[in-house]
Amino acid sequence: MQEVKLFPTTTGQGWLEMSSHKDHAFNPPEEMRDHYDYLIIGAGYGGYGAVSRLAELHPDAKIAVIEAIKIGNNDSGKNAGFIIDVPHDFGDTGGSTFDDNKMYYKLNTAIIGRMRDTIKSTGVNVDWQDSGKYVCCCHPRSYKMINTEVKDLEKMGVDYKIYEGEELHRRLGTRYYSKALYTAGSTLVNPADVLRGLFTVLPDNVEVFEECPARRIDEGSKLSVTMQNGKVVTADYVIVTGGPFIEQFGIVKNVFCPVLSYGAFTRKLNKEELKDFQGVKPWGCTAGHPAGTTVRFTTDQRIYVRNGFSFNSELTTSHQRIRKAIPKLRKAFENRFPNLRHLNFEFLYGGMINMTLNFRPLMVQKSSNLFASACGEGAGVAKTCMMGHYIAEWISGIESEELNFLRRIAKPCRLPPDPFRTVGARIRLAWEEYNAKQEI
Ligand SMILES: Cc1cc2nc3c(=O)[nH]c(=O)nc-3n(C[C@H](O)[C@H](O)[C@H](O)COP(=O)(O)OP(=O)(O)OC[C@H]3O[C@@H](n4cnc5c(N)ncnc54)[C@H](O)[C@@H]3O)c2cc1C
Repeated sequence: MQEVKLFPTTTGQGWLEMSSHKDHAFNPPEEMRDHYDYLIIGAGYGGYGAVSRLAELHPDAKIAVIEAIKIGNNDSGKNAGFIIDVPHDFGDTGGSTFDDNKMYYKLNTAIIGRMRDTIKSTGVNVDWQDSGKYVCCCHPRSYKMINTEVKDLEKMGVDYKIYEGEELHRRLGTRYYSKALYTAGSTLVNPADVLRGLFTVLPDNVEVFEECPARRIDEGSKLSVTMQNGKVVTADYVIVTGGPFIEQFGIVKNVFCPVLSYGAFTRKLNKEELKDFQGVKPWGCTAGHPAGTTVRFTTDQRIYVRNGFSFNSELTTSHQRIRKAIPKLRKAFENRFPNLRHLNFEFLYGGMINMTLNFRPLMVQKSSNLFASACGEGAGVAKTCMMGHYIAEWISGIESEELNFLRRIAKPCRLPPDPFRTVGARIRLAWEEYNAKQEI
């Protein structure tokens, strides 16, 4: 197969800096064996879903995960930290039916439960809050999104609450929003902390190598993976979960359209600054428009904001791009928290949302022993983890309604070639941001 030309890079800082697992030492590179039964490329939530299920199904197998950068510095550690149970509006709209969304809800709930159970049973200390999620609107124009979601939630039998006015203010500590939809099933996490924490408690038959990029995969009598340092490892099965880098391995072509988005954190608020947050518990909201600002009041009492979309074919952020994102982030922050205007951002980062044209994920068997998966939308933590889980079952010959569903649905459509792809993506993103107006 083709040689990987673009590798993941690390720019910006965020959740990983606040993780108590930041300095955990995984396996040193010299321990890497020449052969594994199962080799997983990529240690995001997709890689975690695959390795945790494989380790459970095959306790005697030798399993390895290799990750190009530090676990938690990837997009799985740079998202907004919502592990979402209900289908997201920015989600799979590529012809999915109500029953499909119901199945996603069931699968999301199960995968969140699985992670929660692992955290409880292993006692690993991670920033995981079962605090639910708000969809917040500041302008009546955006209530349409809440109304549409409410209809689906009612049809699905999912409980929700609507908060407005003073009650909403009491819950959030900001008067910026006029109406919110609250659902209790989503989880708010420090995504880098939870991901890294989960990788530290994998069973002993799993070896984890970070900062160890794979350069190419070759198919012969056995699959072989060549690392960037020249080491060649063979494996009976390989699963590629490279996120936006999946096309680099030649698994698919012209399917993914990585969109950059940016996150910023204040420092921890002090006593004086917390006066507006009396009785306010940690919370998180997505906006009443898909291109709006996501906001969190974190467990360690910081404000986090995420917004901005820009198309990026180079598969990297840069310090310049992150700096360019600051004005929009600051505006969103200052509008919502005018009393905290004096606060600078302590951490800033950019991450890549791995979009597809029809918002569908990819889950594919490339050859008899090579499998791959990647997400195609903005709410990918639960989805990508679930796909990893079911690829492990697929490889292990476990048939199920859930696996069949994912195999049917996880088919992204092809993008138009460049320059149409780039021009189209830029126009679409600019249009979405224009329409989001005050929700940014
Ligand atoms: C700013 C932002 C906010 C988001 N907010 C949310 C949210 O709140 N909730 C939600 O559900 N989703 C959110 N998402 C999306 C979510 O983060 C992703 O869908 C999810 O993390 C994808 O996981 P993954 O494992 O498929 O991919 P990744 O996290 O990208 O993992 C793939 C891994 O493969 C590694 N890799 C790539 N190439 C190689 C190589 N050559 N060798 C070895 N390793 C390699 C990468 O370094 C990476 O670690 C957000 C994304 C961004 C960018």
